[in-house]
Amino acid sequence: MSILIQNGTLVLPNGPTAADLRVEDGKIAAIGPGLSAEGCQVIDARGKLVFPGFIDTHTHFEMNKGTDRETADDWTTGTRAALAGGTTCVLDFAEPDHGCSLQSALDAWHSRADGHASCNYSFHMTIVDWDQRIRDELPRMTEQGITSYKVYLAYDGMRIPDGTAYEIIKAVGKEGGIVGCHCENGDLIDESIAELKAAGKLSPSSHPLAHSAVIEAEAVGRWLALAEQAGYPVNVVHLSTQRGLEQALLARSHGQPLYLESCPQYFTMTDEKYQLPGFESAKFVFSPPLRKQEDVDALWEALSEDEIDTIGTDHCSFDYATTKQLGKDDFSQIPPGIPGTEHRPAIMYTFGVKGGHIDVLQMMLSMSERPARLFGMFPQKGTLAVGSDADIVIFDPDHTWRIHAADQYQNVDYTPYEDMEMAGRTDTVLLNGQIAVEGGRVVREGLGTFVSRGPSQFWR
Ligand code: MN
Ligand code: MN
Repeated sequence: MSILIQNGTLVLPNGPTAADLRVEDGKIAAIGPGLSAEGCQVIDARGKLVFPGFIDTHTHFEMNKGTDRETADDWTTGTRAALAGGTTCVLDFAEPDHGCSLQSALDAWHSRADGHASCNYSFHMTIVDWDQRIRDELPRMTEQGITSYKVYLAYDGMRIPDGTAYEIIKAVGKEGGIVGCHCENGDLIDESIAELKAAGKLSPSSHPLAHSAVIEAEAVGRWLALAEQAGYPVNVVHLSTQRGLEQALLARSHGQPLYLESCPQYFTMTDEKYQLPGFESAKFVFSPPLRKQEDVDALWEALSEDEIDTIGTDHCSFDYATTKQLGKDDFSQIPPGIPGTEHRPAIMYTFGVKGGHIDVLQMMLSMSERPARLFGMFPQKGTLAVGSDADIVIFDPDHTWRIHAADQYQNVDYTPYEDMEMAGRTDTVLLNGQIAVEGGRVVREGLGTFVSRGPSQFWR
């Protein structure tokens, strides 16, 4: 069965264009004005925007599995929520246990995702150990479609020394892939937490103090220094501060190729959320934390000037009534993370496009095309073009609604965006050429397939 999307405004690489789009056998078969509807199921997209399916570059589903800190969303619920909001592909982080191979993590993540996912998916591979055995696995990861990696400069059990990070950047670069980094200074976080606890400051209001702007900015600068010396492009994930941004722009001014990801939370909320009564602020504990209004303003300016490349969510959901309570008496024990994969397109449209910071083309570039290029899926994903996979979002730019945990797909008992008014909504989603969302509701589940990725396609 062919599907014809009629009368919509297609967000093409050269800008919004009034045209029809025909889907056949899971691919985009034709784009143009006045396409014939013969033999097609017709979707009327009049008054709507038609985007290439959005890609969430940063999720954590079914993380900490089997522990008291397991995430609320598993692969079934997380990908269903992502799909409902217009995300047709997620890139989740596979994490090996210490002493274990990358292959063991890849196998584990496949076993959790395969057959359960309602949107398409692939995995970034986290590197926590580094030795010849792990190094030798990189070509085998490439063969299995894994070309992006993640390292941490913070968190006990995850953080790696600078020399190791340097070696990993080189080794992954030689494979044609890219490494992203959680940029915070782990030693300074540990020292700050110890000082705050010794002073009896145990509430969530201490969280941003233990993850200050300089803690991010120093690590961004160091990470980029390691990359410059290694001679390969790198990614900075979840950039949150003006000072971190300044480090990146300084490196770019010297000609260094680097990529920046940020997240909706850093564009839409400030650290005032850490002054809520009781334990409410725990709902906003994630790392890096929410920042000042001047940071928010700087991020919007950077996105508007195409200095920020991709928008992911860092979706990592923990129930407030249970899991977040692990830190009730000690802020440093609050599992860090928030839900968000369901709401990213509506939030970035509402605050970004309707808010006057970006246009629909920039929204498409930051959430579809550039993620697909950076992570080796373009033009199969990330663009409306003949021959590309028919992962398509029909977005209603006039549908106003409010976000409520009570009616979200995310399987978690709150949302940090509770009662926020949205000025647009994903109406219909095609996944691999099949209608999977209609009227904002998921109508087909479990259609997600693994995306085997190629080398990064750099544009910087
Ligand atoms: Mn992180
Ligand atoms: Mn993360």
